[in-house]
Amino acid sequence: MSRKELISIIDDSLPQTQCKKCGYEDCMSYANAIVNENASISLCDPGGNNVTKEIADKLKLDETNQLDRDDFKKQLMLAYVEEDECIGCTLCIKACPVSAIIGSNKLMHSVIQDWCTGCELCLKTCPVDCIKMKSSEKIWTKEDAETARKRYKKTKERIYKNSINNHSLMSNVYDNKHEDENIGGDDLNQKNSLIAKILKKARDMRTD
Ligand code: SF4
Ligand code: SF4
Ligand code: SF4
Repeated sequence: MSRKELISIIDDSLPQTQCKKCGYEDCMSYANAIVNENASISLCDPGGNNVTKEIADKLKLDETNQLDRDDFKKQLMLAYVEEDECIGCTLCIKACPVSAIIGSNKLMHSVIQDWCTGCELCLKTCPVDCIKMKSSEKIWTKEDAETARKRYKKTKERIYKNSINNHSLMSNVYDNKHEDENIGGDDLNQKNSLIAKILKKARDMRTD
């Protein structure tokens, strides 16, 4: 079996909350570190003992010294926004790995409860501490993990696409500024108006 296949098999054991509690950027990065950097197999806090056992089994390791945490099958915690306190800063949207938060600039934000993985990443970004966690009636399943993995992938693709578009928009603005050196009067006003529109579009895209 190739290392790439092994990483993928180990990633399949991870809960896909993308919470970074293992110290890595996401579940796949942790799986990669287990295979390529000899990282401990017991760093996934949400996964607990069940995930450690599963990985140990796949790698044919003795895991008995590493089972010191709760089991995987615990109730999922969900984030929610105290909406009266939300100032609409959009920071939580950028932090959410699975696009589970909706809202617009200066407007109230909400968590799509069915999409939330309970990763808690949004909590740390909120400047007014208006995101809280509550217990759900639900146990996090392998099916939930697979859905979260797909949402994370889509979120990353969207962020990448937006960054390319924003870069392209800003290049246009830069080019326009150079052309402005040779124009004046109404032409300059039209150019400035165009730049303002482009910047507004870039800002709107950043808050998508
Ligand atoms: S669920 Fe969180 S702690 Fe576990 S591997 Fe994924 S990112 Fe790391
Ligand atoms: S809403 Fe918050 S806790 Fe839920 S998945 Fe998004 S960042 Fe994580
Ligand atoms: S980070 Fe907090 S204040 Fe800002 S939009 Fe999200 S919930 Fe509202």
